[in-house]
Amino acid sequence: MTLTLTNVSQQDVTAVSADSKHLLDVDSLTPEQIHKLRERASEFRQLRASRPFKSDSLRGGSIYTLFFENSTRTRVSFEHAGKALGADVINIAASTSSVSKGESLLNTVLTLDAMGIDALIVRHPHSGSPHFIARHVDAVVINAGDGAHGHPTQALLDVLTLQDHLGNLQGAKLALVGDILYSRVARSDIIAFRKMGVEISIAGPPTLLPQDWAPGENSLGVPDTEVTVHESVEDAIRDADAIMCLRLQLERQTSGLLPDVNEYSRVWGINAQRLALAKPGAPVMHPGPMNEGLEISTDIAHGSLSLVENQVENGVAMRMAVLEHYCGPTREIL
Ligand code: ASP
Repeated sequence: MTLTLTNVSQQDVTAVSADSKHLLDVDSLTPEQIHKLRERASEFRQLRASRPFKSDSLRGGSIYTLFFENSTRTRVSFEHAGKALGADVINIAASTSSVSKGESLLNTVLTLDAMGIDALIVRHPHSGSPHFIARHVDAVVINAGDGAHGHPTQALLDVLTLQDHLGNLQGAKLALVGDILYSRVARSDIIAFRKMGVEISIAGPPTLLPQDWAPGENSLGVPDTEVTVHESVEDAIRDADAIMCLRLQLERQTSGLLPDVNEYSRVWGINAQRLALAKPGAPVMHPGPMNEGLEISTDIAHGSLSLVENQVENGVAMRMAVLEHYCGPTREIL
């Protein structure tokens, strides 16, 4: 799967991806760095359990969230995380900013940067936008989801959630089911979980897989991202230790990729019958928002094997770990 860059050059992506000042994708993190962020996030989760938890580690810092796409979990958890660490957090929705008057992405971020901000947390429908921004601002840039490309903090919180549940990720088998092609979570999850030694099984409609993928071994085109593509969801789930169910990214898909969404649910949806094929007790994850009854049945979404709420809780803890590291005085932890 290659980056689907729309109006941003590949040069922007490669120029800043390896710069550890920013968190633009999981590709540039080592397994050790992921472990350290995971450990720190676990500590934060425990600290948060004894409310009220408030730290001063980012006191005086200003964090701006700049979202050009809708969000509930990601934006709110970043805000929550920043405030718990003592930073001032300011939220900007593109729809209520001067973007709606025609201001360009570059002028928007240069304006914010001129206010002396410490971090810019960006979500944008165009792949590579955070990389482009990182080349032009002094602030730390954290990618909160760019097009179909990446969602690094989601992958980190998914690693935390599954590791907590399974105890050990090395050699575990994770089935990723659904819209692989347009899901930035799929791409970031594959990279992060492979770095943790997880075996990945894939199932989804052929029109929602990368074009060059066929049943069998495939990869994202970057090292150590091998996955096994299965023809049916049953084959992908069989004996899996966990299942990651992905939302149909209807807002990104071109038309005509699916004959019918009910048919999609019948052939690819995660339900109790299919889940029974996985290892006993195998949990189900979903990055949210869920389309219940479409990619996941309601009983599974809210059942005892669902880790969806754990993912949400871990989202705050992991974003605290990320903000502390990238914006705070403890950068040396990585
Ligand atoms: N919330 C995740 C994202 O922004 C997953 C999704 O929207 O399907 O990518």
